[in-house]
Amino acid sequence: MVSIKDVHKSFGPVEVLRGISMDVMKGEVVCIIGPSGSGKSTLIRCINALNDIQSGSITVEGQEVHDPKLDKLALRKKVGMVFQQYNLFPHKTALQNVMMAPIKVLKQNRADVEVRARALLKKVRLEGKEDSYPGELSGGQQQRVAIARSLAMNPDVMLFDEVTAALDPETVKEVLVTIKDLAADGMTCILVTHEMGFAREIADRVYFTDKGVIVEYGPPATFFEQAKDPRTRQFLSQIL
Ligand code: ADP
Ligand code: MG
Repeated sequence: MVSIKDVHKSFGPVEVLRGISMDVMKGEVVCIIGPSGSGKSTLIRCINALNDIQSGSITVEGQEVHDPKLDKLALRKKVGMVFQQYNLFPHKTALQNVMMAPIKVLKQNRADVEVRARALLKKVRLEGKEDSYPGELSGGQQQRVAIARSLAMNPDVMLFDEVTAALDPETVKEVLVTIKDLAADGMTCILVTHEMGFAREIADRVYFTDKGVIVEYGPPATFFEQAKDPRTRQFLSQIL
């Protein structure tokens, strides 16, 4: 589904990704963890071409993401992304937020879009909140609207960048449950997260990044119990 090969990315003179490689199969859930500034968000943004790269390759379903000839809209349809800041339109209801991109960007039929948007809000467990405005919803509920909005484009892979980091502790869990539901449905997911219990529970593999390289990775049981690299062990000892 996603193949990342020896990716290098610099901002000016500073090399932020220094040879990252990673393969994610259809239906897999991969978690990326690592200290602040290690390049996790940059990597996620390179996967859907929000950032360019200096060398290496990233393909999604076999298509080179950084090919200048690639149709960016087609890529954005395939790859959904949810950030820490959900950025919903405040003057639109939950339902309207979810319906907007399929109507405006994909030019789909409004009636069809509405049926799907209602189903998606149900899927993220927000049935009954269709007509609420973002300001009337908790952070966790708003983030689930953002997830539904992203799913409305019918993506094949979802990228999540610290989507629970800004939430109150009591609403973190409901967002994690939503992501777990998605994963259980077979959605391919790449997540940056500090929720170690969650990573352990749902990830097929966990990657630890530090200073722009992947230090080590493995299935969660091995990764959390038997991390080999001292940098990984130190990070885990601080966070667990
Ligand atoms: P993480 O998500 O792991 O905390 P980031 O990918 O956000 O790390 O950042 C990695 C490094 O790249 C940091 O040193 C950050 O300051 C730098 N960086 C990120 N985005 C930009 C940008 N647009 N311009 C310049 N430097 C950036
Ligand atoms: Mg980040």
